[in-house]
Parts: sequence; C-alpha cells; structure tokens
Amino acid sequence: MNILRSLALNARYAMFRRKRAQRMHQLAQQNRAPLSILFYHRVADRCPNDWTISNAKFVQHIEYCRQHFEIISLAEAQSRLASRYSPRPAVAITFDDGYAENMEFAIPWLIENEIPVTYFVTTENVRTGRSFLHDEEAGQRLAINTVSEIRAAADSGVEIGVHSATHADFNTITTDSQLDAEIVDARMDLEMMIGRRIDYLAVPYGMPPQLRPAVMNKAKESGIRGICSAYGAYNMVGNDPFHLRRIHGDPDFSRLRNWLSFDERKLRNEPNMLTEDNPFFDDSPSDFSEDLQSDRPIGSANYGSVLHSDDTSIPDSLTPHALNLAP
Ligand SMILES: [Zn+2]
Repeated sequence: MNILRSLALNARYAMFRRKRAQRMHQLAQQNRAPLSILFYHRVADRCPNDWTISNAKFVQHIEYCRQHFEIISLAEAQSRLASRYSPRPAVAITFDDGYAENMEFAIPWLIENEIPVTYFVTTENVRTGRSFLHDEEAGQRLAINTVSEIRAAADSGVEIGVHSATHADFNTITTDSQLDAEIVDARMDLEMMIGRRIDYLAVPYGMPPQLRPAVMNKAKESGIRGICSAYGAYNMVGNDPFHLRRIHGDPDFSRLRNWLSFDERKLRNEPNMLTEDNPFFDDSPSDFSEDLQSDRPIGSANYGSVLHSDDTSIPDSLTPHALNLAP
C-alpha cells in the first residue's frame, strides 16, 4: 500500500472515529451491529508475497480485534444474521488455501488464545502436497498443509472448511459435473480426510461472478451451510445469512482499521450479486471498486490487478467488464 493512501486513511479514521463509534453504538443498541469476517492466506516471516502477513502484524490485527470487538466463530456470525440479532460489533477470522507456515505460528497462536477460526483448504493440494500453480509461476514453491496437519488442527478445535478441489475459477466452469467435483466431491473428500462434517465453502477468488446462482444453488443443494465471498463487505442484519461476506486481512493496519471501524460508505459501494432473474452484470459505471479486494489472482481470473489495489482511483481493470464474466 502506498504511503499517501495509508496517511489518507489514517487521517480519515482520525476525523470520523467518534462518528463511526457512535454509529456502531447506535446499530448495536438496535441489535444490528455490523459483523465483519476477515480472511487471511499466509502468515509467515519468510518468502513474503502479496498475500502474506508477518507473524507480528497478524498478532497486531487480532489484538486490535480483541480490544474492540467480540471475536466469534463463523457459525455464530451466521446465526446472528439468521436470527437478525446482532447486539455487539463482532469479528470472525478465516483463512483460505492451506499454506504450511500457518501451522507454525498463526494457528497454534489462535488455538492457544482460544480464538475461533475457520480454515479453508483446497483439497487436491492438501492431498497431493502440490504447491499452487500461481506460486510456481511466480518462482515460489510454497509448501501446503499436509492431511495430518489439517486433521490435527481440526482435533484442536479449528473448524475446517472447503475451498474447492483445485482452486478453480467457478466463473469459468461450464458443466454441472465440474461444479460437482469442485464443491460436492471436494467437500466429501475433506470430510473423509478429517472425519468431521464440513459446513462452509469459501469460493476461490470470491467475487460476485464466482458466486453466480448455479454455484449458490449447488452449495445449498449439497447441504453446505454457508458460502463465503471475498470481495470486501460487511454482514448486516437483513443480509442473506447463507452468503457470508468477507474482508481481506490487509497487511496494512490503517486499511484494516478503516474497514473494521465501520466505514458506512462501503455499504453503498457493494457490488450487486448475480441472481437467477438477473444473471448478467449491469455494466453501467460502478464505483464499488474503491476498496475492492479479494482472494488473490490465480489462473484465468482477469481481475488480478484489482485485488490488492492501493489506489483510490478506479483503473479500467476494476470495472465489471474486467471481471471476466461469462454469460
Ligand atoms: Zn484461495
């Protein structure tokens, strides 16, 4: 993140801090407190890349959350949404992908501190130990969690979730059997791997096109309890509790704090989800991209440059056209 953007966010936070706190308090009194779900990828002090946060910064994030919010499980966040009763501002913690280093510090630290976490893994990579293609292409063969590590984490109270079989871009999947393989079979495989029920699916990339109606329906039909996106949004009472919106655990603390302190502008900027009635993106100009962020770019997804954008302007790559939306 560039320094100017960071300074601007800090200044904005200082300016609106009291107003935001008052708004959050008001919403809490109405049992409509915002629920924020963070997602991380890799907590490590070596081989950093765009989706890595250092051990110290991760602790800073979670300590901030502990001081200012109630930290709850994904299931509890969903339950509050479903019951339309959210009396306290709360945060839930999740991880995507299954990078080996997470088990060296972050996950044991969360377990030790009794902080609930949902850990989403890509089953084929865990089964085979193969690193992600995008990491290899970047010259980094980053290690993946083993089956026994995932099992041990589950046995220690970490909730395990499914993040597809192959980290596929659900927007480019054209057949029902492929969707079955990435959602239904992957979940079953993971359940056998750890001997526990898997309730949640985090969709790779997690942008609206990947959460198209066919994907939502497949997940629902297969008994999955909730589906996580990754484009950056709060969960507000009244939202569909099946869809759990997540915010990137941005390594830049000023950005994370700006999100968690409840920047109400972001509610206006949230992209529309595709629906059965409206399966195509409205391609009129949109400003939802200012803080758009998501799961990292891999493969054919065409919006990679957006994902960790530090810029306040809207590059062409941020428009809905760039979301590589297939009909
Ligand atoms: Zn992912």
